Formats: sequence, C-alpha cells, structure tokens
Amino acid sequence: MTDFHQPVDASLVPRFAGHATFMRLPAVATAQGLDIALIGIPWDGGTTNRAGARHGPREVRSMSSLMRRAHHVSGVAPFSIANVADVGDLQVNPINLTDGLALIQRGMTDIVATGAIPLSVGGDHLTTLPVLRAVATGGPVGLIHFDAHSDTNDTYFGDNPYTHGTPFRRGIEEGLIDPKRMVQIGIRGSVYDPTEHDWAREQGIRVIYMEEFIQRGAASVMEEARSIVGDGATYVTFDVDSIDPSMAPGTGTPEIGGFTTREAQEMLRLLAGVNIVGADVVEVAPPFDVGGMTALVGATMMFELLCVMADMIDARRR
Ligand code: MN
Ligand code: MN
Repeated sequence: MTDFHQPVDASLVPRFAGHATFMRLPAVATAQGLDIALIGIPWDGGTTNRAGARHGPREVRSMSSLMRRAHHVSGVAPFSIANVADVGDLQVNPINLTDGLALIQRGMTDIVATGAIPLSVGGDHLTTLPVLRAVATGGPVGLIHFDAHSDTNDTYFGDNPYTHGTPFRRGIEEGLIDPKRMVQIGIRGSVYDPTEHDWAREQGIRVIYMEEFIQRGAASVMEEARSIVGDGATYVTFDVDSIDPSMAPGTGTPEIGGFTTREAQEMLRLLAGVNIVGADVVEVAPPFDVGGMTALVGATMMFELLCVMADMIDARRR
C-alpha cells in the first residue's frame, strides 16, 4: 500500500501550483501496475452542435485539484486502497473522425491490457463507443447511463452513423452492450420525433425519464439500476448534461430540468456493489463554462466514481 501513488499534499503545496494532473496524482507513462487509470480523451469530433468538449480534460484536471484524500460520507480513501495515477491523454485526431475513433480504441486497448480499470474524461459522448470497443472484449457489458439524452439515434446529416447522438445504438449493434442490462437515467427535453425512444425500449433498454426520477428519488431508481445490471461486468457513463444547466452550463447540448449536483452525487454513491469495468465523465465543454463550475462538477463526479471503484477493488482484496 505504501507504494501506491499519492496526490500532492495541498497543505504543503497550494492547489494552484505545479502541473495540473487529475486529483494532483503523478503523471505516469503507462498504466502498468495501476488499479485505476485516470485518462483524458480530448476529442469532440462527434459533436453535432456546440463543440468544445475537446477542452474538457485539461479543465477537469485543473478543477480536480480541489479533491481531497477521502470521501466524507463513505469514508473511502481511494489513494490508500488502490493504486491510481494520471496516464495522460489518449492520442486523438481532431480533423478525422474515423482515425479519431481508431486512435481512442487503440489507446484504451493498451490501458485495459495492463489490467487497470479506466476512468476517463471526455470529450463528447461518441468517445464512449471506442472505449467500449476496448473494454467489452469479453462479451457485451451492462451499462448505467446518466444523461439528458438517450444517444440511441441512428444517423445524422444524411447517413452518418457516428455522432455523440448515436454511440449506444452503435454499441448495441456491435454487441458491446447488452441492452437488457442497460438503464438510462435523466432523459428529458424535446425530441426529433415522439417515437424517438421506441428503438431503445424495443431493444430492452430501461429508459427512466427525469419525471420518473423526480417521482421516485435516487434510492429507488438506483435500486432498480443495480438489479438491471446485476453482478455482470458493467460500464458507467456520466454525461454532464444530465445535471441541470444552472449548475453545469459548460456543455454543448444543455437541457433544463435536470439533476441537481446533490442528486447526481447520491446516485453515484449508490453504485456501490456494481461490478464496474470502466467509467467516464463526458461532455464538459469549457468554452461554455462559467468560472470553471462545470469542470468542478465533472471533477467531483469523477471523484465520486473513483471512490466507488477503489472500494470495489479493496473489497476484492479483503
Ligand atoms: Mn450523451
Ligand atoms: Mn446528453
């Protein structure tokens, strides 16, 4: 345990000093030896409207300097029970979608091959597709998906299949996701067509609209989510636009009427016990942010996920 990477101590070196890394952890060249790898994916080539999530990892790194060593509710001290570090950004191609997807898949494949569990920051939501291609090599995974949007549309601008509005349709078609072990939470906002979510439901995806979440609350919804994914390998994807734009304005496709940050934190804590094989926070778009508040939301959700994942790893060792 004493060999685990440790964050820079903010009582010795102020938070604003030094190189910005996720959680002030060391930047390492390889995921070898890590339990959890923190990764940036600075790519928004799938964005259909307001671009800018390519700048997400850098700003989330900066605001993640506010994260401290232990979770105040669970008591989990992730850096004491799991070896975690910042493995840097995946290589990307901002001007070529096909190459961008291939590079992300290749970079993530190298990380997963070390045995480290990836916790990444996008990037737009299309980045989750090549990540799933790298993670779901042992068969389709379950998916817990927090988002204002279903992201299960078919094509955009004619017959283009790869945008941040399509990753989960592609992921199901490619056999990366088991739609019967998939739940979407927080879906809301106007749609292109009243039948837009029919395809998702026909596949077996459990689509939980924001209105249902408000009726039932986090504990009930997450109990159902945990039962949907069961004990099997599960990926967790958190689109920051699931949060209300009054609390997370820095995103490309804002939708009012969303989660409070407290509701989102409560839900992520209730992931305890899920067999998490990877997780991400996506769609933080700093060009639309105000005072770094959305980057702080992203960093804090990343810390919530990290604590649950570190506790899972520690439980396996115990
Ligand atoms: Mn999304
Ligand atoms: Mn969204």
